[in-house]
This record gives sequence, C-alpha cells and structure tokens, in this order.
Amino acid sequence: MNEKASTALLDETQSNIKKTYSAKVYSAQSASSALTPGSIRRREPRPQDVQIEILYCGVCHSDLHTVRNEWEVVMTTTYPCVPGHEIVGRVVKAGSAVRKFKEGDLAAVGCLVDSCRVCASCRAGEEQFCENGPTFTYNSEDKQLGGVTYGGYSDSVVVDEAFALKVSKDLDLAGTAPLLCAGITTYSPLRHWKVSKGQKVGIVGLGGLGHMGVKFANAFGAHVVLFTTSPKKTEDALRLGAHEVVISKNDAEMQKHAASFDFILDTVSAEHDLNAYIALLKRDGTMTLVGAPPTPTPVLGFGLLFKRRQLAGSLIGGIRETQEMLDFCAEHGITSDIELIRIEQINEAYARLLKSDVKYRFVIDMASLK
Ligand code: NAP
Ligand code: ZN
Ligand code: ZN
Repeated sequence: MNEKASTALLDETQSNIKKTYSAKVYSAQSASSALTPGSIRRREPRPQDVQIEILYCGVCHSDLHTVRNEWEVVMTTTYPCVPGHEIVGRVVKAGSAVRKFKEGDLAAVGCLVDSCRVCASCRAGEEQFCENGPTFTYNSEDKQLGGVTYGGYSDSVVVDEAFALKVSKDLDLAGTAPLLCAGITTYSPLRHWKVSKGQKVGIVGLGGLGHMGVKFANAFGAHVVLFTTSPKKTEDALRLGAHEVVISKNDAEMQKHAASFDFILDTVSAEHDLNAYIALLKRDGTMTLVGAPPTPTPVLGFGLLFKRRQLAGSLIGGIRETQEMLDFCAEHGITSDIELIRIEQINEAYARLLKSDVKYRFVIDMASLK
C-alpha cells in the first residue's frame, strides 16, 4: 500500500473509531443477577473490520465462571457482562480493506478478537499467549471504545478480519459454534502433545469440552478412555467415540488403569482430586488441565517424580490453529452435539450446567433475540 493510500486508511479508521451503533444483548449486571435483555454500543466497522450478524452462540462454562465473577483470583468481571465466545454468523458489512470476507459470507469468532501481533507469541501464531495481553472476546479491555469487550450473546459483533474464521457451509452451523472454544481448547493440546494411533488417552469429564476431546482423540487414532462422574452418560460416551468408560468415583475401576496412560486431558469445571489421575499416567506421561476450577487443589509431588510424569495446562488455541481445526472438522464431518435453546432459556441452561446436565453443549439460536 502506498503512503497516500495508507494515510487515507488511517483517516478513515480514525474518523470511524468512535462511531457506534446499538446492538441487542443479554447481559448480567452483577455476579448474582440473572442474564437479562438490553443493549450496548458497538463500533462501526473500521476498514479492516467485519460486522457479523450472529446466528448461533455456544454456551461455555467459562461464560458462567465469568458472569458469576468466580475467577476473581486471576481476573475481575466488569459489569454489565455480555458473555459468549462461540460465535457463528453472516458478514453483513465488510470494511474497505477486508480481503478474506465479503458481505453474505459465513464467519466465526472464538475467544480472541485482537492481540499485539508483534510479540514472539503472536508471530508464532499463538495469540492467546500474546505477551502484551490478548484481547478476549468479552470482559477484556476494549482498546477501541474503552470499557470492556462484549461477547456473543448478542445480535451482532464487529471484529478485525484477522480474528474472524472461515466456516464451511457443509457443516451444521449450530453444531459448528462450539468448535470455536470447546473445539479448539481440546484440539490444541491433543495436537501439541502429539496424540496419535497406538496411544492410550484419557478424557476427564463429559461436558462441552470433554465430548469434543473424545471426538478428536478418536479421530487422531488413539484408544480413548472417558472418565465421568455421571454413569448415565456411558452410552453416549461410547457413541461419541470413547472405547472405554470409567466411573471415576469407583476406586476399583480407576485402579485397573494404574500407570497405563500416555496422555490425559482434564476438562472438569469444579474442584476434584488430580492425584487420582496422575497415578494413571505411565512413565513420562502427561496430564494437561484445560478445565479451570476457581479454587487451588493439592498435588502430591511424589505422584509426578516417581515416573517422571508431567502436569501441564493449555489455553484455547491461536487463530491459525483454530482455522486448521475448523478445516479438519469440515473434512471429517465433526461438529458438536448440541441442545439448541432460545435466549430466554439461558439462566435455566446455566443452572443445568452446574448439575453436569447438558448434552453436550447448549447453543443459543440468536433468532430468538430479534
Ligand atoms: P461443562 O460443559 O459444564 O462440563 C464440565 C464437566 O465436568 C461436567 O459435564 C462433568 O462431567 C464434569 N464435572 C463437573 N463438576 C464436577 C465435579 N465436581 N467433579 C468431577 N467432575 C465434574 O463445562 P465446559 O464448558 O466443558 O468447561 C469445562 C471447564 O473448562 C470450565 O472450567 C471452563 O471454564 C474451562 N475452559 C477452559 C478453557 C481453556 O482454554 N483452558 C477453554 C474453555 C473452557 P461428567 O458428568 O462426565 O463427570
Ligand atoms: Zn469457552
Ligand atoms: Zn502479542
């Protein structure tokens, strides 16, 4: 781009920057209040932005943790809080510099809407670890408008095209929405720790993340064992791709798998005993936490050192890998198993999430917000 064109773009960007429009949302006003309808201001698209009409938004347990300010040890929730980071929709406006999308295209937004793009992590395509602080889709500093970002429990969202993903029109759109968080959060560690054929892999918890973990671990060729506290989920787990199911409250069943796993992915949202799973790893095995309970939990060092086992964590995934995951899902016909809800059912859906009662992701039909 020549200097004149880039100055024009900058002028257009600056003149647009404070132009806003009203978007409908569901938001929480405090940690103890229900989600209720309202409106917020969103920026008009800058030249590099797309405005997306949201068709579906998945309901992640992180939405609930954030709305209830449960993660106060690491971040405080700013109210009103508009959660939602599993967004699929249609581009209704594309800025003059947008190349990847045109009006009418399908597009998706996950947990990230911006990052510095110049630090080592951003250059490595791991924007979730941006050293200058990534901008998350909600409850993150909004560097354009001030205040915080607002998520996908809304009729629209505006995002830099660099953080918008391409979606296959061959996949069920509502079932695609949860791929944007539950999908990438399980795909990324399974890839990073090179889960493959011949390995024994455990997935702990059959919720939104867990059921995607089962599908991906199976698709990567592993022998998949699902650990659950809900015996009634056994049949579903086998249908979703688990080869074995272990009821984790049954010590004898757990013992049978001692020191046998290459890799375990823990997706549990509440406090639980990690040591019982560490004991199931074989020598040099890794257990990776993606579940984010708000409270610390004791780990007995001996469990790790005797077999040189590793305990690790993983956070969503970068934009490049999210696109790779979406393309993998399109190629293999993978989507999330969902319960489609209307936006008025969101508070009831949260209550059910807390009872581990979802098959296996709630997705909001955003037409119900119109
Ligand atoms: P979810 O759908 O509610 O599933 C959580 C599952 O954990 C439940 O279905 C249940 O499975 C199990 N569980 C719940 N309470 C338990 C307890 N007290 N003891 C043992 N197991 C229990 O939640 P999700 O949306 O998948 O999210 C899971 C966690 O991952 C949340 O903490 C969320 O914030 C976090 N998360 C992290 C990332 C990341 O980047 N690392 C991204 C997204 C979400 P069973 O019924 O099978 O036992
Ligand atoms: Zn999430
Ligand atoms: Zn960065």
